[in-house]
Amino acid sequence: MNDEIAKTDEEWRKSLTDEQYRVLRRHGTERAGTSALNDEKRPGLFRCAGCGQELFSSDTKYESGSGWPSFWAPLVGSVDTSVDRSLLMTRTEVHCSRCQGHLGHVFPDGPLPTGQRYCMNGAALRFDPKQD
Ligand code: FE
Repeated sequence: MNDEIAKTDEEWRKSLTDEQYRVLRRHGTERAGTSALNDEKRPGLFRCAGCGQELFSSDTKYESGSGWPSFWAPLVGSVDTSVDRSLLMTRTEVHCSRCQGHLGHVFPDGPLPTGQRYCMNGAALRFDPKQD
C-alpha cells in the first residue's frame, strides 16, 4: 500500500500556515524557544502538522534545553532521514515518512535508552492529548 501524500507546492501552501509551510516544505527552522509544544507535558501523541501521521509519543519527550521539542525516539516507521549538508555542517535531517515534510534533525547526544535526540520544530507537529 502506498500511503504517501502527493500534493503540489501550491496545495501545500494553501493548506498550511506560513510558518508550517516554511518548516515542512522549505526545510525552515523555527526560532528556538518559540513553540508552545516546548512546554507540552501531557500524555498524548505528536502528529505531523502536514498530513496527520502519528510521529512521537509523549513517553519519549524530554527536556533537552535546546528550545525545540525533543524526543529520544520516533514511532516505528513514522519518520525517514537523509543527509543534510547545508549551513557548512553535516547533519541528519528527519522527515515524515508519509508526506515527506521536514520535521527537524536527529543528533547522537540524546538520553538513554537510544542516545538519540530528535530535535523537532514545533511548527511541524500537532499535539493530540490522550483522551480517557
Ligand atoms: Fe506528514
